[in-house]
Amino acid sequence: MKNLPHKDVVIVGAGWTGLLLAKELGARTPLSIAVLERGGPRKTADYLEGMDELDYAIRNRMMQDVSKETVTFRPTVKDRALPIRQFSSFLPGTGVGGAGEHWNGMTPRMTPDCFELRTRTIERYGAARLPAQHSLQDWGITYGELEPYYTRAERLLGISGQAGANPFEGPRSAGYPTPPQKMAYFSSLFAEAARSQGYHPHPMPSANLSTTYRNPDGVVRPACQYCGFCERFGCMVGAKAQPTNTLLPVIARQTNVTLQTGANVRRIGHKDGTATGVTCVDEKGEECFQPADLVVLASWTLNNSRLLLLSRIGQAYDPATGEGHVGRNITHQTNSRGITLFFDKPLNRFMGSGANVAGFSDLDGDNFDHGPLNFIRGAHIFAPSYGARPIANFGLPPPSVKASWGAEWKKHAIDAFDRTANLVISGEHLAYTTNYFDLDPTYRDAHGDPLLRMTMEWKDNERNLIAFMTAKAEEVGRAMGAREIAGSPVLRPYDVNLYKSTHLQGGTIMGENPANSVLNRWLQHWQMSNLFVLGASSFPQNPSGNPTLTILAQTLRTADAIVDRYLKQPGSLA
Ligand SMILES: Cc1cc2nc3c(=O)[nH]c(=O)nc-3n(C[C@H](O)[C@H](O)[C@H](O)COP(=O)(O)OP(=O)(O)OC[C@H]3O[C@@H](n4cnc5c(N)ncnc54)[C@H](O)[C@@H]3O)c2cc1C
Ligand code: SF4
Repeated sequence: MKNLPHKDVVIVGAGWTGLLLAKELGARTPLSIAVLERGGPRKTADYLEGMDELDYAIRNRMMQDVSKETVTFRPTVKDRALPIRQFSSFLPGTGVGGAGEHWNGMTPRMTPDCFELRTRTIERYGAARLPAQHSLQDWGITYGELEPYYTRAERLLGISGQAGANPFEGPRSAGYPTPPQKMAYFSSLFAEAARSQGYHPHPMPSANLSTTYRNPDGVVRPACQYCGFCERFGCMVGAKAQPTNTLLPVIARQTNVTLQTGANVRRIGHKDGTATGVTCVDEKGEECFQPADLVVLASWTLNNSRLLLLSRIGQAYDPATGEGHVGRNITHQTNSRGITLFFDKPLNRFMGSGANVAGFSDLDGDNFDHGPLNFIRGAHIFAPSYGARPIANFGLPPPSVKASWGAEWKKHAIDAFDRTANLVISGEHLAYTTNYFDLDPTYRDAHGDPLLRMTMEWKDNERNLIAFMTAKAEEVGRAMGAREIAGSPVLRPYDVNLYKSTHLQGGTIMGENPANSVLNRWLQHWQMSNLFVLGASSFPQNPSGNPTLTILAQTLRTADAIVDRYLKQPGSLA
């Protein structure tokens, strides 16, 4: 094995979190920092080659290669886990920028009650309302503690939004750095109808810029062109905040940060309770050891858990005994795209962007009384105008059309193309003792290491929530003037073949003490103080909102804690 020159810090993964921490430490300290990324290099100019929907959006050009590494899945411990052969339910990123290159850019803040979910639910409804087999817990931090970092993250990305438009949002210390995007027609129709029903619709905060913006690092990005090729693509003009157009220009000037691509990390080295560095395989297939004083995992939800399990750091969760924390509390937004509206008029759905969305939060979190209801927590309901790409959006005539093939079907499918749109229900997913990650005893990756095994199924709380929200969304759809509505209130069993979101969370959760979590309030490992783990793997359960602004805020908070406290006095920050 080759020994690489010693570094002060090694960061595993060059996505949003890894590059943000590298930029912060690179700017504020003289530390030598190595970022190791398994995928290849990327830059904005790469995206000028065009918008090939088949290549990028259907065949997942930018995502993790399942022939080298995948995940096995089973709904319950009684089922046999099998490898996922094509990612669909969630889309792990790879290469510089990670999934932050091909994300949508929806950037809401979490509502204050999310962080204290367990305490607040018990206070309002009593412990008896917590669902069977739940493993809910508070995060160990409050919205108030994270608020200044939300503001910094919004300024870094230039988030376009309208302060005060969402009355359920927590208090803000500053407005949005840029005004909201122009709202596309379908989303405007939704906002009007929702308002007429007494809801409080608002534009989704967006990392697709409404106007040219210079961030506090001096990085300038142009306004969005509403091309509609955002989700699953990199932005060819740089209007969507991505790690490559927002963080890399700064890192490129930092002589103390090196970025190594093609470096697949397989283990965290450790001795006597201290991390010593990481073992990786480089692009030539050679095994290397990168020694470092501080080790940071920023390898997204799947590999944050997997690397801890493979490296035998902390105790793996055992659902039979409830002991161990690594791998537990995995959650995946309860996302239903099941409500399709058919209109008589064209919707001009070609115009759009990844975060061109109107939604309302009246039925989110605990913003409404759950007294007589058969579930806790909630969802935000929204009308997206992502831009109707031809392959994903063709071929759905309304339910009244009986033909299912041939000329008749084709005529109706063409007619329906720009007259059809979906409402989305993005619901919270509670944590349960039965949903977890562990190492698969059968299947291995290209290097011979066990794959991560995911055991996941919805419970009654999610099923009841979706049934309730579907009825509410249909009411708004009717008020929008839809001629026909196709929707199902039934949440089907967790299906790895249906895209939900890439908001898979948990596995290395944070908490108030080592008896209930893997990480402390600063995302520092409880037992190994020179190991930090960034990203949504720290979330104890899944809020309904998109996670990235929150993980960026948390990363900035961790950066402050490392610079202001850890470097002065290494050891536990808790
Ligand atoms: C299609 C899509 C749409 C999305 N839309 C939104 C949205 O609108 N709003 C929102 O909030 N979020 C959205 N997300 C989620 C968002 O992209 C993620 O929350 C965010 O990118 C997570 O950042 P991260 O740094 O934790 O992980 P990533 O960005 O995934 O980066 C992790 C990096 O680690 C690398 N890595 C992993 N394992 C190893 C290893 N063993 N060795 C070396 N490197 C490794 C990966 O290759 C990757 O580059 C979307 C995601 C997708 C795929
Ligand atoms: S819709 Fe806007 S932000 Fe998205 S890829 Fe097109 S120009 Fe970029």
